[in-house]
Amino acid sequence: MKAAVLNEARTPLSIDDLRIDEPGTGEALVRVVAAGVCHSDLHFIEGTYPARVPTVLGHEVAGVVEQVGAGVTNVQAGDRVIVGFVQPCGICEYCSSARPNLCQTPSTPRRRDQPTLWRDETAVTAMTNVGGFAEYSLTPASGLVKVPDGVGMDVAALVGCSVTTGYGAVVNTAKVTPGSTVAVIGTGGVRLNIIQSARLAGARQIIAVDLVEHKLAVAKQFGATDGVNPGEGDAVKTAKDLTGGGVDFAFEAIGLKQTARQAYDMARRGGTAVVVGMVPAMDQIELPGMIWLDEKTFKGSFYGSARFHVDMPHIMALYQQGKLDLDGLVTKRFPLDQINEAFDTLKSGEVARSVLEIGSE
Ligand SMILES: [Zn+2]
Ligand SMILES: [Zn+2]
Repeated sequence: MKAAVLNEARTPLSIDDLRIDEPGTGEALVRVVAAGVCHSDLHFIEGTYPARVPTVLGHEVAGVVEQVGAGVTNVQAGDRVIVGFVQPCGICEYCSSARPNLCQTPSTPRRRDQPTLWRDETAVTAMTNVGGFAEYSLTPASGLVKVPDGVGMDVAALVGCSVTTGYGAVVNTAKVTPGSTVAVIGTGGVRLNIIQSARLAGARQIIAVDLVEHKLAVAKQFGATDGVNPGEGDAVKTAKDLTGGGVDFAFEAIGLKQTARQAYDMARRGGTAVVVGMVPAMDQIELPGMIWLDEKTFKGSFYGSARFHVDMPHIMALYQQGKLDLDGLVTKRFPLDQINEAFDTLKSGEVARSVLEIGSE
């Protein structure tokens, strides 16, 4: 099958012919239809996060189940599915306490370091057991969520990462309340989902923070009430002025320690700052000692603190009711062969989300 392979950080992906294993116990083979081009993949390409190369990236994926291995009961061949990039075991302490996003227990007998992809005799890893920049993905079936009729595969793919990450950060991690005030620091697809989910949660004021003017305009289409350009002055001070002392909930969706600190500073006394962006692995974030006096909460959010088999169907239902705009997130489409162009477009910052159209349903 055809796949885009990262051979070394800071080099273009190569389109290669790979062999993929048959599904083992608990696994499914999924024919990939659509894959989103996410900033997280870019972190591995640019080397700010380590990757075991050669590897197939791609973790925002939807497709059709081609074949299932022994013991798989939640999906069958022909099902349209989101391919989740965490595959919860279902029984560990995290899974049993509604935090499956934190599960690190393998859900199938196949060992984590056992390869499933091959380029001639060389083993190729599949990022997060998905490896979605390819015609097929071999993945533990516990990560698959069925897609209802009427939800397109491009939209379903985005639910696999950026939508769930943004929605879940608001609803699960921060628990944004009606009438509250919110600030969102970010530029990519996740921030638009934070903004529209905050609107859905009933926030009365949603401040988008971005250096690019036209992105502030797009943010307003998704529900932002105010736009702040840090290029025109101190964004923390402006957010505080706009809200009379700071926001109830501040979200960092870029992945920089400086903006993580800004999110903390934008939160009012008793407020909450949530880091959603992938701050480089070796960075340290410094906070004021007076955190105790201000009773602020500073926390991370991984994959929207999501309960995948609950939240993803909810999100798709909200989309079908017109309460979440997911069609408006897809701004460009590329074939798999043009994946490097898709990443160039992402780097240039001109799109909310590019989707790779890899196969047909
Ligand atoms: Zn992602
Ligand atoms: Zn688990």
